[in-house]
Amino acid sequence: MIVSPSLLNAGIYHLKDDLRNIQNAGASYLHIDVMDGKFVPNLSFGPGIISDLKKMTSLVLDVHLMIENPENLILDFIQAGSDVLTVHQESTKHLYYVLQTIKANRCKAGVAINPGTPVQSILPVLHLVDQILVMTINPGRQNQSFIEETLEKVQYLSQIRNKMGYIYKIQVDGSINDERVKDCLAAGVDIVVSGGYIFNADNPGEQIRKLFKKEYEYKKEF
Ligand code: ZN
Repeated sequence: MIVSPSLLNAGIYHLKDDLRNIQNAGASYLHIDVMDGKFVPNLSFGPGIISDLKKMTSLVLDVHLMIENPENLILDFIQAGSDVLTVHQESTKHLYYVLQTIKANRCKAGVAINPGTPVQSILPVLHLVDQILVMTINPGRQNQSFIEETLEKVQYLSQIRNKMGYIYKIQVDGSINDERVKDCLAAGVDIVVSGGYIFNADNPGEQIRKLFKKEYEYKKEF
């Protein structure tokens, strides 16, 4: 299991310490939610923060674009130092082209789907992507609870990967805590994004160790 703590929930005053802390606890990715105020109501980071983070940390910069027409900005985000760039199926009419362009620029490409988007809508691009992000809440909105049915999509994607020999990793994002980890792993999740659960606690590293403890228990059970 890869843990990808979400920068959106981290405090900027002690960011450097927090990044070191989460990495020491075993996190290998840093999830960066980019919001444009159109695709989702909120605003967050632009490419500038990605280049700053690239200088600060060796964590994999896992960039989740929640923006309309990502084709207009993907090159900026790649040049800034994104390691994985994920775009939403719902955000562009040119999904295949966007994913091809990301790959052609030597960046890992991901596709994300909202809770209301059928998993079948991304079947034509499964062979192209390195990562699939299944949203487990509605993106860009506060205080939401985990939507159980989204794990059915994860199961489906896991089955089709085995059947077809695809290489993508499956990621879940939204209201994930230590109580959810086993269900996610059972469904076939590889990457767990977690924000508030990790950064709202006094010791973010300790929270990550709790997530890995659940993974350890899960592996012992099965
Ligand atoms: Zn995200």
